Amino acid sequence: MANQPHEHCDFLIIGSGAAGLLTAMKLAPHGKVVLINKGGPADSNTYYSQGGIAAVMDERDSVESHVTDTLAAGAGLCHEDVVRQVIGMGRTIIEELLAFGTPFDTLDASLDLTREAVHSHRRIAHVQDATGKAIVQTLLQHADNHANVRHLQQHVAVDLITSARLGEGPQRNTCIGAYVLAPSGQIKTITASHTILATGGVGKVYTVTTNPHAATGDGIAMAWRAGCEAMNMEFMQFHPTCLYNPQGSTMMLTEALRGEGALLVDRGGRRFCFDYHEAGELAPRDVVARAIDHEMKKSGSDCMFLDARSIGEDKIRHQFVNTNQRLLDVGIDMSNELIPVVPAAHYMCGGIRTGIDGTTSIPHLYVIGESACTGLHGANRLASNSLLECLVMAEKCAARVLAGGNLPVRRKVPLWDTSGIRPEFERVPIKHNWDEIRATMSNYVGIVRSNERLRRAQRRLHLIQEEIMAYYWQHPVSQELIELRNLSIVAELIVRCAQRRRESRGLHYSTDYPETLPAATDTILTPGAEEA
Ligand SMILES: Cc1cc2nc3c(=O)[nH]c(=O)nc-3n(C[C@H](O)[C@H](O)[C@H](O)COP(=O)(O)OP(=O)(O)OC[C@H]3O[C@@H](n4cnc5c(N)ncnc54)[C@H](O)[C@@H]3O)c2cc1C
Repeated sequence: MANQPHEHCDFLIIGSGAAGLLTAMKLAPHGKVVLINKGGPADSNTYYSQGGIAAVMDERDSVESHVTDTLAAGAGLCHEDVVRQVIGMGRTIIEELLAFGTPFDTLDASLDLTREAVHSHRRIAHVQDATGKAIVQTLLQHADNHANVRHLQQHVAVDLITSARLGEGPQRNTCIGAYVLAPSGQIKTITASHTILATGGVGKVYTVTTNPHAATGDGIAMAWRAGCEAMNMEFMQFHPTCLYNPQGSTMMLTEALRGEGALLVDRGGRRFCFDYHEAGELAPRDVVARAIDHEMKKSGSDCMFLDARSIGEDKIRHQFVNTNQRLLDVGIDMSNELIPVVPAAHYMCGGIRTGIDGTTSIPHLYVIGESACTGLHGANRLASNSLLECLVMAEKCAARVLAGGNLPVRRKVPLWDTSGIRPEFERVPIKHNWDEIRATMSNYVGIVRSNERLRRAQRRLHLIQEEIMAYYWQHPVSQELIELRNLSIVAELIVRCAQRRRESRGLHYSTDYPETLPAATDTILTPGAEEA
């Protein structure tokens, strides 16, 4: 324990996706930034985001129209003041990214704006079909060249350090940094005047997800353990058509395929979407996801199938170059074969309850990006609004931090306690609990919920949590164990939020409460509060 390192910085930023990177660039001129991520630049949701960023950049478009589209998608639950602030900053954000050098696609010297889902105008700024990767690469280059930014890769935040944790009384609870697992296996103590969690989403809580490994909800779980409230976590967005590939990674199959005539069929070749919606395969995303889920549950099948053969080989080779190539790489020729598909966990609309500047109930602790819930998305996210929210939050968070003043430097903070730790002889219990949580969530807390399914999930999660807690404090801390503890907390928060909502709204559908209530209310969970 004596050799555990301790360092102090002005700003500790945990996560280097869009939200963390832009915050780092905004704060770097004002003090020492320590920026950490747990798996390298590619292990973030930002890196995989394809479509782009929604922003009003065209004269024929208007902020009012973008606001209207966002409110419609959110099914009555969006916070309109937040929507107006975020949407109103779209142009500023795009101009800022351009100034950093982001190579957005252009057409005749203007931005090449595309149209997506239910946006009523062309307003998606993009870099081919790999926008997030371009943003990460651009911002990372600036961050890594800034003298005030220390970028620690493969470092995993374990827990926040708060004055309450140090026994200094809940009234004065303040965040003073975090314990971080270094690649050497040592736990570093990093104290900071301001700690910003930008740890992204929670997709890994489900068996099939579009999210990369990093998405284990670490920031949400850390903030919850420290005493922050969680909000609207029942609203998990599922992408309807992802490749079913139990032996390997999955991939999203763009909705444009259905737009061009691809059909959804069961194993026997029967089209089923018209049983659910008059628009068939072109029904809204959540309806198609529910239809696939229902057919799978009814028939006990592992997947349904996308039949893209009618699109024709020529069009497939020209219009769907990447999709076609990636499918060929896993042995599927979409011109001649059916593609096995399942809905996949994609985006968490809820998270830690924050202001638009990331402020939480704990002074000097901020949560931004996908880990936060500001009220922008309400009960369903409008496509391409999430990167915009990350970047607006980064701007506003940095301004708030700079207005807030620094904490006095803490020289004496207890190091991570390793007493009573026994060597670990096998990893099987961790792997088993990981699989169990993900299967439980997929089977019982997926696209369609019921009281009975949620009860079953809750019972199983409690048992798993008991096992994790018994294991956690007796064995050396590892990335898998940290993530497992966090996954189990995030899973429980999703179940508890889903149990609280006694209606169906947006992304949350319950067979016991199929109606939407006249008044829309947020689901808010407070740590330590008894369940109603
Ligand atoms: C396939 C896909 C396509 C998408 N397409 C779009 C799109 O076109 N438009 C759009 O607006 N949105 C899109 N989204 C959603 C959008 O990408 C995310 O909401 C957004 O990028 C989240 O950014 P973030 O900065 O909050 O988190 P992330 O980009 O996920 O970054 C999280 C960071 O936190 C780090 N981290 C996590 N836990 C820890 C820990 N314990 N210790 C240290 N570091 C940690 C990770 O290593 C990572 O660096 C898409 C998402 C996916 C998965």
